[in-house]
Amino acid sequence: MVIRGEYDYVIVGGGSAGCAVAARLAASAPDASVLVIEAGPDGRGVTQIVDPPLWPRLLGSSLDWGYWYAPSPAVAGRAIAVPRGKVLGGSSAINAMQWYRGDPAGYDAWEAAGAAGWSYASLLPYFRRSEDWEGGASEHRGAGGPLRVTRSRRPHPIALAMVDGAAELGLPRLDDPNSGDTWGAALANLNVSRGRRFSVVDGYLPAWAPPAAPGQVPVGAWLPAPPPPPNLTVTTGSLALRLGFDRPGTDGSRCTSVVHLVHGAMLETRAAREVILALGAFGTPELLIRSGIGDPAALRRLGVPVVSALAGVGQNLQDHPFVAGVHFRASQRLGLPRAGAGGAIINWRSRAAPHPDLHAFVVQGTQAAPHEAIRDGLSTGDVFAISPALMGSRSTGSLSVCSVAQAGPRAVEIRSGLLTEQADVDALVEAVDFIADLAGTRAYADLIDKPLTPAAGPGRLSRAEKVAFVREHCSTLFHPCGTAAMGAGPDAVVDPSLSVYGVCGLRVADASVIPVIPACNIQAPVVAIAERAADLILSA
Ligand SMILES: Cc1cc2nc3c(=O)[nH]c(=O)nc-3n(C[C@H](O)[C@H](O)[C@H](O)COP(=O)(O)OP(=O)(O)OC[C@H]3O[C@@H](n4cnc5c(N)ncnc54)[C@H](O)[C@@H]3O)c2cc1C
Repeated sequence: MVIRGEYDYVIVGGGSAGCAVAARLAASAPDASVLVIEAGPDGRGVTQIVDPPLWPRLLGSSLDWGYWYAPSPAVAGRAIAVPRGKVLGGSSAINAMQWYRGDPAGYDAWEAAGAAGWSYASLLPYFRRSEDWEGGASEHRGAGGPLRVTRSRRPHPIALAMVDGAAELGLPRLDDPNSGDTWGAALANLNVSRGRRFSVVDGYLPAWAPPAAPGQVPVGAWLPAPPPPPNLTVTTGSLALRLGFDRPGTDGSRCTSVVHLVHGAMLETRAAREVILALGAFGTPELLIRSGIGDPAALRRLGVPVVSALAGVGQNLQDHPFVAGVHFRASQRLGLPRAGAGGAIINWRSRAAPHPDLHAFVVQGTQAAPHEAIRDGLSTGDVFAISPALMGSRSTGSLSVCSVAQAGPRAVEIRSGLLTEQADVDALVEAVDFIADLAGTRAYADLIDKPLTPAAGPGRLSRAEKVAFVREHCSTLFHPCGTAAMGAGPDAVVDPSLSVYGVCGLRVADASVIPVIPACNIQAPVVAIAERAADLILSA
């Protein structure tokens, strides 16, 4: 493929947000040229991407960047693996396919944090525009949009029991958890179509997707792809190293190019109109810092000249902690895993929360949490987990660049901050107790042989033992965000039009701009941000 010297728009990162922004710009501005720079390969021919139950096998693979959260006393001194997709489609190509927006209040908090105009009501048109919900269009849902969203098919008995058990404990059954009302238990919405993953590549860049015959999960043999839009170029295997600026460090400094490594060759590709960063919550702050946008003291230590002094770059890292070790041995054969990370979810409130802030899902065997399960010898046999997560976490962490000589996981140190706030630990202790109650319901009576952790069994643990259990088994629900936050205060990195403060021609559109983590898996909000970013760029 020939990469020209200049494009109108250069999008760095071809993940959940990057693919959506690229497709919208290319379609809405047919006279403009659009380039996507993606470090990973295009993912065609990878069965583990396409076949929903196989997604855990992608973790730790060559399609995972392989980031780690640094060891922290708050999680019993452990380092925690935090996978990120390194492939066209980004994390949407390796994720668990849950499609959930969470409680509307989670977005109203963005506005309260200084992201003017980013309430739930203002994002709703973009949520709707992105969706092709099988239930059809409604006030809350979209149909005919790029991303296919379906209810879990043939939910596993352990998922059905979750909904029934929650009802026994007094929680409502939700017909649709994405209809604004989130308190209760529901069958999950999934980015799955005809038994296969439906990533952002399938939805927004179908020319680069692996098509399959209806009803088939393809294994290695692909049908011909549709032709790509003539004004859109996607370069894979292309690692962005830094941004180029006209008049760097002065008023009116403009981002004009991206320096990237393509199969051993260093290129500098110019952007006539804008550069849009969509490298995700780790890649975006790293590239900003490497390019001179960040805390001046940190830039000086790295020997990088200051282009824009923004102390907030890499700060405000947020993620959802979940407790990975609440395992049970089943009293019957469970069969093959189904429906991504299990087919059902529960949302409920901790004592201190005004809106649902706790969440649970079921997962089988190694899917419970691969690293934990393997360590604890639970990776085989008929075991499953009912995993509680805190969607209203308050703890924050940070990312810093240690070396500009490398890029990616080796170049950064990431302090997750997980469980550094006592309130988060308290909420998760409550959540583990709730799971133990859930496991004791009639719904699970024929499914559970015995709990494999004392925290979920009869006799339970003392408060101190529960706190230790939560800290020892805390993992990431894979939702890092907030590291180039949108807002108006001194720590904000982008303004509400997603433009980076202090420079022209540079925006961020990905999970990094989220100022306050919403109470959901964050693929849906990231796609909504990307949809809105395209409108903001086109109206500039
Ligand atoms: C294992 C896993 C399970 C998850 N499960 C769910 C789920 O079920 N539901 C849900 O809602 N969310 C889930 N998530 C989270 C969700 O997928 C992500 O939050 C979302 O995809 C983030 O989108 P993004 O565009 O910000 O980043 P990404 O999708 O990660 O995209 C960033 C892209 O930039 C590329 N890139 C990075 N650095 C460079 C560079 N220097 N040069 C060029 N390219 C670069 C990357 O390769 C990647 O393609 C999961 C995530 C993971 C990893």
